[in-house]
Amino acid sequence: MTLAPIRETFLPFALPDIDQREIDAVTEVVASGWLTTGPKTVEFEKQFAAYLGVKHAVAVNSATAAMHLALEAIGLQRGDEVITSTFTFAATAEVVRYFDAKPVFVDVQHDTLNIDPTLIEAAITEHTKAIIPVHVAGQAADLDAIHAIARKYDLRVIDDAAHALPTYYKGRLVGAISDLTSFSFYATKTLATGEGGMITTDNDEWADRCRVMRLHGMSKDAWKRYTGEGSWRYDIVAPGFKYNLTDIASAMGLVQLSKLESMYTRRVAIARTFDAAFAGHPALIPPAQSPDSTHPYHLYILRLNLDALTINRAQFMELLRQANIGASVHWIPLHMHSYYVQTYGYKPEDFPIAAEEGMRCISLPIYSRMSNSDVEDVVTAVRDIADRHLA
Ligand SMILES: *Cc1c(COP(=O)(O)O)cnc(C)c1O
Repeated sequence: MTLAPIRETFLPFALPDIDQREIDAVTEVVASGWLTTGPKTVEFEKQFAAYLGVKHAVAVNSATAAMHLALEAIGLQRGDEVITSTFTFAATAEVVRYFDAKPVFVDVQHDTLNIDPTLIEAAITEHTKAIIPVHVAGQAADLDAIHAIARKYDLRVIDDAAHALPTYYKGRLVGAISDLTSFSFYATKTLATGEGGMITTDNDEWADRCRVMRLHGMSKDAWKRYTGEGSWRYDIVAPGFKYNLTDIASAMGLVQLSKLESMYTRRVAIARTFDAAFAGHPALIPPAQSPDSTHPYHLYILRLNLDALTINRAQFMELLRQANIGASVHWIPLHMHSYYVQTYGYKPEDFPIAAEEGMRCISLPIYSRMSNSDVEDVVTAVRDIADRHLA
């Protein structure tokens, strides 16, 4: 079961869209002598908040840190519960465990793979404090329904928007809708600084708390203590964390922010090519489009109709690799990983839709640096493999 390579060189699953502008911006910061949190980070926060139309943006060194600080800011305690969907990355639930609190999973909608709001109320207990909707692939979860439940039970909503930049939900940008929102600037994300993240909120108190806790719990603007305008005096008001973002990353982030829409437009064009190429194929199911959300295609999650194929997902992935096409899987649902099975006794069938869909998803490469011939190579490889193994 082998396939001649479609192309000479391996097409990576993801590549950041870096050009001379990012290189110049980073060079300038490095040459300036100010490497860590400073003026570039302040500027990045300002422009990021302005772009989203939100009052505060707090830069941190990952989305994991962003979600940790957001939960800290709302006062999550040991024994509390936080509802999220099982169809997500490790970070979304592990940050809840940092507090010795419990991540409570619910299943996803069959079409969007986002949290199913109709299942949330049944998961609420007297210990529930927050809901973390994950905007899978970048398409927004049903935020209106989620906020209605949150209002009814006095819960906070913290979006895991690691994929959702930029995403319009009913005309409003994700990041300016929920109580707090966390973004990722990890190397593969739609705005990439290598490592990095952002918390956005309209709430002054939460923003202040996140700013203090990201740098050792030191009083506000502690980074300024090494500048002319700063003071050597500082006060530690809480045992904080070391989650601040470097100016090197922020300089890249500013350039990436200015390219956000052009990178988005290119990914959407690639998605339309994929959609057209796979539509109607008996073994291939292109991603569903929610009527309420734009789709920024951080991921293009293709689903396989396994009944129409003689091979399974792992074999499909292996054939893509042999064709020199990088692909990935998002995700094996959290409740099927050994830590969550051992800690909470979850069984695969507890969340049947995530369990079933998680077995047949393949994420195809989709990023602005792909050439038209790269896109064609992906189409050819996927269609070839599917055609040759039709049941
Ligand atoms: C990438 C990702 C994260 C974590 O982002 P980091 O910046 O690497 O911490 C969290 N949630 C989801 C859904 C992600 O894809």
